[in-house]
Amino acid sequence: MTSPRTPRPLRDLRGLIMDMDGVLYRGNQPLPGLVEFFQFLDRQGIRYLLLTNNSTTLPAGYTTKLAAMGVQAPPEAILTSGVVALTYLREHYPPGTRLSGVCMEPLRDLLLDGTGYVWDEDAPQVVISSGDWAVTYEKLRRACLAIRAGADWIATNTDKTLPTEEGLVPGAGALIAALEVATDRRPVALGKPETPMMEQALARLGLGADEVAMLGDRLDTDILGGINAGLATIMVLTGVSTREEAERGPIAPDYILDDLPALLARFRAELGTAATPARP
Ligand SMILES: [Mg+2]
Repeated sequence: MTSPRTPRPLRDLRGLIMDMDGVLYRGNQPLPGLVEFFQFLDRQGIRYLLLTNNSTTLPAGYTTKLAAMGVQAPPEAILTSGVVALTYLREHYPPGTRLSGVCMEPLRDLLLDGTGYVWDEDAPQVVISSGDWAVTYEKLRRACLAIRAGADWIATNTDKTLPTEEGLVPGAGALIAALEVATDRRPVALGKPETPMMEQALARLGLGADEVAMLGDRLDTDILGGINAGLATIMVLTGVSTREEAERGPIAPDYILDDLPALLARFRAELGTAATPARP
């Protein structure tokens, strides 16, 4: 159950944590109003951080992707669940710790390059679970044996599905479910909606929870993650979740808006700033 609460006014926001897929773009297609929205944030001095549970691409990859859509977002403004996993490992495990798991090469490189961690498929101390679009039975078999032998188990994220142009396909959570069934254990999960990712995002922004809103398209990750971290929440309808699902609850965003142009109009209405007049 959620109790109705008065949404924090958008005009008081100093920072915005944004999901990317389904909010800024869909697959490789930028969504309407993308460039104008970032221009507005820059003009208003609203700090932003871009979040994704997808750890199969590094932050620099998202910088390149957004640049092709006309948005300049440096890698420091992008937090992937893979980066969150590396920070978590550094806080909890000393260099020399043996890692293994079900994940793709970019994440594996991120966790190993210059960190002092080593990859050891025979006797890992920590098993990493992530999205892996080249998963094999052999990878699952090894991870299962390691977890059963007592290794710690960390999941970058637990998204059940991944949106693609063709529809929803199995996400990291679907692979984790296979291991949960086989091991009777559950991993420590880091990505949205869990708090480690949200806390790292706030720390990067250098702002408090009461100054920041979470903007996303998905109730069970973005909006729940924002609520868990005490942020105001804004949902746009350009991605996975629908208005009906949001209104049905129990996960209830503070604001539901059709898309970025609608959100921009709402911001401007609250701030009393007129839209730039269209040229004739
Ligand atoms: Mg999304």
